[in-house]
Amino acid sequence: MTDIIETNLPTSAAVSPGSRVVPRRKRLTGFHDLPFDELKERLVEMGAPAYRAQQMFDWAYGKLVTSYDEMTNVPAPIREGFGETTPLQTMKLVRELVTDNGDTYKLLYQTFDGQLVETVLMLYPDRATVCVSCQVGCAVECAFCATGLGGLTRNLTAGEIVQQTVDATRRARQLDRQLTNLVMMGMGEPLQNYAETMKFINIIHDPRGLNFGARRITISTSGIIPRIDALADEPYQVNLAVSLHAPNDELRSRLVPINGRYPVEDLLAACDRFTQKTGRRISFEYALMNGINNSDEIARELGQLLRGRLCHVNVIPFNPVDVLKFERPNAEMIERFAEIVREYGIPTTVRYSRGVEIAAACGQLRARHQQMEKAAS
Ligand code: SAH
Ligand code: SF4
Repeated sequence: MTDIIETNLPTSAAVSPGSRVVPRRKRLTGFHDLPFDELKERLVEMGAPAYRAQQMFDWAYGKLVTSYDEMTNVPAPIREGFGETTPLQTMKLVRELVTDNGDTYKLLYQTFDGQLVETVLMLYPDRATVCVSCQVGCAVECAFCATGLGGLTRNLTAGEIVQQTVDATRRARQLDRQLTNLVMMGMGEPLQNYAETMKFINIIHDPRGLNFGARRITISTSGIIPRIDALADEPYQVNLAVSLHAPNDELRSRLVPINGRYPVEDLLAACDRFTQKTGRRISFEYALMNGINNSDEIARELGQLLRGRLCHVNVIPFNPVDVLKFERPNAEMIERFAEIVREYGIPTTVRYSRGVEIAAACGQLRARHQQMEKAAS
């Protein structure tokens, strides 16, 4: 039996996938939700010595075991106690797709309450990067994004984000690789799930566990200004990517509706405060859509807007989404846009998304899986 905190709600089978409303109180706390000190407290409450916490962290984050049974130096009653109340893994893998000649792994999970969550592992010659999700759906509802199509279903817990990271670490290790980078660029808006995002970073950063360096973590946001300011005051040296997509309010509000509340000028002022406080360079993400935000004039406007700022622009050619009518510009147009921005002295890189043919742009695999389930039922 598993422990669903604060409630006796039914297990996964009774909750239909894709159901929109998930009450806040229905939460499952798994092992990966426990920071080191909380684990220690639980052990002490069970009458176990505190040093067991380090042993369990070693198994979970060092040896990357997938069941309590494998924690052989931990006494059976402790393992059984945790097994009954606090699952080591709360999500199960329902699909795994491989593409780019074995360099991109796309994982689709099902949570305990039947939600679908995507993770992508990307292998490069010099690094291995995992792209994790932090929400099921997203309330920001950007016009070009598959994740935002159905609004927000629920936040993921820190533990659900940690599990994605642990599984990617294990998969990389099985491939004789080491996970070196993490980007929060999967499903969801991390700064609208701020508390769990910070807890997640705290857990994976802990040197007694995964010991994942904050400088190798990038949080991507659609521009939630108060949380950008909060992030600048956090102790973690994480990188910030801001999804700009347009240099003016008129266009940006059409693409990223939250721009109505946090307009471009205010957003850039927040970015400047972040850079001043942290000394860290911001990446501006720019999803390039033909006939929408890729004219020479807009490129120049973007260049003027960002000129002189400590930043980098990542141009992401639009990833086709089945039901959306936007188009990706051709290679020549993409390069032309980047070249104009560079003329303003702004380092600009074109980044093609990995795994396009397995629908690896955020939210797309989930959307397709749901369509297939519907068709099959
Ligand atoms: N919510 C956060 C992080 C997740 S999205 C954010 O918006 O920043 C990660 C990046 O992928 C964002 O820059 C987002 O705008 C971009 N993106 C979403 N859908 C896309 C698509 N179909 N093609 C290209 N980029 C897309
Ligand atoms: Fe949400 Fe980011 Fe998608 Fe916008 S691009 S809907 S903020 S996940």
